[in-house]
Amino acid sequence: MSLKDIDATLASPAAVHRLIAAHGFTFRRSLGQNFLIDGNILRSIIGAAQVTEEDVVIEIGAGLGTLTRALASTAGSVLAMEIDARLHPILEETVGQYDNVEIVAEDALGIDWSNFWATYGLFRAKVVANLPYYITSPLLLNLFWQEVPLDSITIMVQREVAERFTAQPATKAYGTLTVLAGYYSEVGIHQIVPPTVFMPSPEVESAIVKFTMRPYVLQAVNPALLWKVVKAGFGQRRKTLPNALASNLGDTIPKAELQDILRSCDISTQRRAETLSLHEFVVLANKIAEFW
Ligand code: SAM
Repeated sequence: MSLKDIDATLASPAAVHRLIAAHGFTFRRSLGQNFLIDGNILRSIIGAAQVTEEDVVIEIGAGLGTLTRALASTAGSVLAMEIDARLHPILEETVGQYDNVEIVAEDALGIDWSNFWATYGLFRAKVVANLPYYITSPLLLNLFWQEVPLDSITIMVQREVAERFTAQPATKAYGTLTVLAGYYSEVGIHQIVPPTVFMPSPEVESAIVKFTMRPYVLQAVNPALLWKVVKAGFGQRRKTLPNALASNLGDTIPKAELQDILRSCDISTQRRAETLSLHEFVVLANKIAEFW
């Protein structure tokens, strides 16, 4: 199906006004409820995700069903998660006629993704979502950590957070999110999105980001330790690596030994975490694993 044929009937201010008036719905800011009102952005998300009828799509935060409906018209099936029970009757109205859509009344942050895979008999899947922004980091870290078989994650997030995922070393935006996302995926910003395509408009710009899962560039011997090293390094990002690492790993490996380990990895003991590439982080974590 071509992008111009997707069902974008709910992506307009008039459609959103009509639905919320008919159901007496009021927006809840604490749930990140900024609904899409622009068909072109809807097509752009689905185009970036390269959704086809072969795909099982997990949507997080279905809202009024605007993206859900567009996905239903392009994907094989859609599992549409929505935490707010006030939206479930609206979703019944807007996507109930699609027999390839299932509404999942769950909190995305509480999901054990391996169980989720088993419950729904999933093999591979794609995540496609206009995310409630407050859940972006915990949700992504949870998906990465659990390593369920995903092809890709295509999401609308706050622009500033998108830039953290794609940052270069030695920049302010470079941090835990950049390194861990890069370990599991190839990350790219597909499009910057203005506040005007949402109702109500958020105060900040957004971006469509795509994470394409791929084999590791270099495999961590102990993934938990890689996470620990990355978090320790950036937890104290102004400190040099021996100091930053010692304050978290020091109970197991003394600072002097950490200095030796850094030297053996050809990483200067004067460097800070924010200057390390993903590759250097994995080399370092693998060396530390020998002493762990
Ligand atoms: N997909 C719709 C759209 O594009 O118009 C709505 C997107 S809106 C930015 C985010 C949606 O996520 C809201 O409907 C909100 O109720 C829902 N939501 C918020 N927190 C959630 C959570 N922890 N788990 C599942 N859904 C959540």
